[in-house]
Amino acid sequence: MASQAAALVKEATDLVGLIGEVTEVRGTGAAAKALCPFHADRDTPSLSVSADKGVWHCFGCGLGGDALDFVQQSQAVGFRESLDILARRAGMDLGPSSVRRTRPQRLDRIRWQTSEFCHQLLRSDPSAARRGMHRSVARDLRTGRARPGL
Ligand SMILES: [Zn+2]
Repeated sequence: MASQAAALVKEATDLVGLIGEVTEVRGTGAAAKALCPFHADRDTPSLSVSADKGVWHCFGCGLGGDALDFVQQSQAVGFRESLDILARRAGMDLGPSSVRRTRPQRLDRIRWQTSEFCHQLLRSDPSAARRGMHRSVARDLRTGRARPGL
């Protein structure tokens, strides 16, 4: 059941788009590469993405796998939750068997989403560089900024 759902969800997922939500993917097809979000990947992108095979691999830190593995690594969640996340992303309904999140998992997710949101705010803020915040430092440390009222 879970493996069937996993196959459906992976098929419905655009791996390059998924990885592109976390790190910029350059190139297309078999040559698609990205700076790895899981280690301090500075100049040469070490993470390769094969959209055809639905897999990714980082030659720097050795992490890799499929779309579910990427979600598990990037969002610090388990297999079942990664299945739910990708199903929701693809607009699929996996039914009532979906995981009921425990409170700590929900809090982790909220923390991660908040930090990601603040990081994106900083990345899109042109004044960040003027204030001495180098992009690569901001990326490595996942630094963010807040908006009034946030
Ligand atoms: Zn890596």
